[in-house]
Amino acid sequence: MAEVYFLGTGNAFSPPGRMHALALIDSKILIDCPPTVIPQLIRGNCLPSELNHLLITHWHADHTFGLPFLLLNRKWMPSEESDGQELEIHLEENGIEILSNLCRMGYPGSLEDSIEKDIIWNKDKQSKLSGTEWEMERFPVLHTPQTEPHGYMLTHSSGFCLLHCGDSGPCEEIDCRVGQSDVVIVEMGVPDYVDSPYHHTPSDVEELSNKYPGVKILVTHNYSNSGNFRHGFKPPNLSYNIHQLDDGNKLIINGKGDYILKK
Ligand SMILES: [Zn+2]
Ligand SMILES: [Zn+2]
Repeated sequence: MAEVYFLGTGNAFSPPGRMHALALIDSKILIDCPPTVIPQLIRGNCLPSELNHLLITHWHADHTFGLPFLLLNRKWMPSEESDGQELEIHLEENGIEILSNLCRMGYPGSLEDSIEKDIIWNKDKQSKLSGTEWEMERFPVLHTPQTEPHGYMLTHSSGFCLLHCGDSGPCEEIDCRVGQSDVVIVEMGVPDYVDSPYHHTPSDVEELSNKYPGVKILVTHNYSNSGNFRHGFKPPNLSYNIHQLDDGNKLIINGKGDYILKK
């Protein structure tokens, strides 16, 4: 069995009812590291020191600025079970300097040993994620080019395929992988009136679902609010095979590769 836990489903503005988007897989693999990653993990009953893998999609602050807090927490609040297990960070090569500098800026003089010893930097675009039942492929997507945006195709030992599109507008690299996936996680960072090639709008998500009606689409990095709030955008109405995730939702995958969504 496998589990994908959505401990945040909001875009960079953290709309009412949503924390910044991240996904936690089997309490071992984290996709993206937003500034409030520590309270998000703790709310999800996960200890930061027990993470084995961090998959970075791009350099924007809502996806990376939690790293200094994560390293500080792992250094000073280790659990007995974690037993000095390193954190393998999967990323494009330029990110090693960018994220190291981010940690030095956040806690000058305090994280040098963590950067050296707690982290394994992995630039490989394909990897078996050690200690887990998953392997990944990283592929380029369409977002602010300065952030080196990527998505991840994750394959479970059961054969289940999960496509995480990163932060991206519609693009060929996503299109050619959707048909091979069981579930697709797609960001919907802006409403329809925003004219940007770098994000999916509700109409873009509808179009993707019309092209691949057999694929379940989960929307995250949502611009709209969740719950009853006076402020922010109301969630758009989307087709039945598109689910707009809320914080705390879980995707549960059984040994045969079938899945259910738990709200
Ligand atoms: Zn973002
Ligand atoms: Zn972004």
